[in-house]
Amino acid sequence: MTEYFYPQSMGRIILLAMEEVLGREGIRSILRLASLASYIDQYPAAHADKTFSFGTVSRLMESLEQAYGPQGGRGTALRVGRACFQYGLREYGLQLGVTEMAYRLLPLPTKLRVGAHAFADLFNKQTDQRVRVEDKGDRLYWHIERCPVCWERHTSDPACHLAVGLLQESLYWISGGKLFNVEEVTCIACGDAACSVVIDQKPIS
Ligand SMILES: [Zn+2]
Repeated sequence: MTEYFYPQSMGRIILLAMEEVLGREGIRSILRLASLASYIDQYPAAHADKTFSFGTVSRLMESLEQAYGPQGGRGTALRVGRACFQYGLREYGLQLGVTEMAYRLLPLPTKLRVGAHAFADLFNKQTDQRVRVEDKGDRLYWHIERCPVCWERHTSDPACHLAVGLLQESLYWISGGKLFNVEEVTCIACGDAACSVVIDQKPIS
């Protein structure tokens, strides 16, 4: 099967976020559990070489579930996803254009749509992940058509909590502190054609 990759810098972001959430010892045991001990105290470099495999991303997520159980693993993966955003913003904020004044002054619904498309472009251009954004009026669909988070996994429930957490935090930041309903409704790991995350465009609070 063809191998697909994230750039090293995104692998680095995931590991830094995991360390922030799990602590130093926590991430060490997850890396051992995932048979990725070579990354212990040696995270990938912050460059664009595409060598961080989708299999590595999904193995990390699977190990969270093994270590913390289905519920705990899910909660942890969501938190890791949220933590990824700040590191991602530092690395990619400029390219995304979301830190520019012109963007920040847009009305919220436009901001969400423009932000979602910019975000999808980043994944489509710089990684092997494929994302399609679909606008259905009051809902935005984030369809991950090739997904590293659940790569080659088989699960009974949607498993891409990392992606959900990342989207939650992006929306929180874009809207200046509002919460949105974000839910993964289909998942390739469950046999669906895509991992689809639905975002209600109207904030909860
Ligand atoms: Zn997925």
